[in-house]
Amino acid sequence: MFEPKQKIALALLSGGLDSRLASKLIADLGRFLVVGYHFHHPFSGAPAQERIRAVKKAARDIGIPLIIDSDYDAFIEMTKTPAHGRGKGANPCRDCRIFVLRRAKRILSSMNGHFLISGEVLGQRPMSQVKNSLNLIEKQAEVRGVLLRPLSGKLLPPTLPETEGWIARDELLDFVGRNRKRQFALAEKLGIKDYPTPAGGCLLTEKAYSARYYDLLKDAPDFGEIDMESLKFGRHFRLESGIKLIVARDEAECNLILERLSGTFWIATTVDIPGPFAALDREPTEQEIMLVGGIVAGYSKAREFAEIAIELTSPDGAKVRKTVIPLDKRDFVKFML
Ligand code: SF4
Repeated sequence: MFEPKQKIALALLSGGLDSRLASKLIADLGRFLVVGYHFHHPFSGAPAQERIRAVKKAARDIGIPLIIDSDYDAFIEMTKTPAHGRGKGANPCRDCRIFVLRRAKRILSSMNGHFLISGEVLGQRPMSQVKNSLNLIEKQAEVRGVLLRPLSGKLLPPTLPETEGWIARDELLDFVGRNRKRQFALAEKLGIKDYPTPAGGCLLTEKAYSARYYDLLKDAPDFGEIDMESLKFGRHFRLESGIKLIVARDEAECNLILERLSGTFWIATTVDIPGPFAALDREPTEQEIMLVGGIVAGYSKAREFAEIAIELTSPDGAKVRKTVIPLDKRDFVKFML
C-alpha cells in the first residue's frame, strides 16, 4: 500500500541480475514505493516478447510495478553517431546509458518521484562502469545526485537518498570489479532465481553483428528498423555493385525473410527445386540477377545443375522469372560479410 508521504524510486530493470539485485535491495527496505522501469531496445538478442516477459517476471518476483518504454527510431539514431565512443563491437554503451537515464528521469519527474536506482557495479564493465564513465554518464544524463547505485553505493559519493537521510550508507553495498561471486551470493540470499547470463544479450557487442551493422551504416546511413532487423538472420553478402543480399540458412529463416522483409526488400528463390529464400535491398540489374540467382541456386538442391529458374518478387508483389547458372561457393564467398 502506497503511503502519501512515501518516497518514490524508479528502478532501471534490464532483465539481468544486477538490476534485479539493486531494485530488490531498496524495495526490501520497505520504506519506498519502488517502480521498475524497462527500456526495450531493438538490439536485444532475444525476441522482444521473450525479453519483455522475462522483465515482467523479474518485476513480479521483486513485487514491484513495472513501466515498459520503447522508441526504436530514436534508439537506432543514437547508435549511429555516439558522442562517447564504442566498445569492442558497435556498442555505444555510454551514449546508451545516457539515453536511457534521460528517459527514466523524465518519467521520474512525471511521477513526482524522488530518485532513480540502477544496478551498475563500479569497475564491472570496461566501457560504461569505470569511475570516469559513471561520472560522465550521470553528468550528461543530468542525474547527478538523483541516481543511486546501491550495489556500489558505499564506494561512490552520497546521493539524494543519503543526504536527505532516507537511506543510511550501511544499507548500501561495496561491490566492485568483474568478479560476480558476491552478486551470485546475494541473489541466493534474496531468493532471486532464473536470471540470464551477465552478457545481457546486446547484439551490438557481438563481432559478427557489428560487422553487418558497420556495413549497413556505411551503405545506408539513414537506415531504419527494418534494415536493422534484417541484420539479425541469414547469410549476408555485399556484392561489388553495392547491392545487399541476405540468404536464409534454414526454414525458420525463410519464414523470417518472408514475414519481415517482403514488402520492403526484393525476394528471390528457386523455382520447382527446393532452395532458400533470399532478400535484396534494392532492385537488381540484369547482371546482378545472374550473380544473385547463382548464389541462391548455389545454396539449393540444384547446385549441380547447368542452369535453373529463379523467381524474383518486387516489394509491390510483381514477379519475374529468370534462368541462372548455379555458382560454386568458392566463387562468392568473398562477398560474405
Ligand atoms: S551493451 Fe548494448 S544495451 Fe548494454 S549499455 Fe551497451 S549498447 Fe546499451
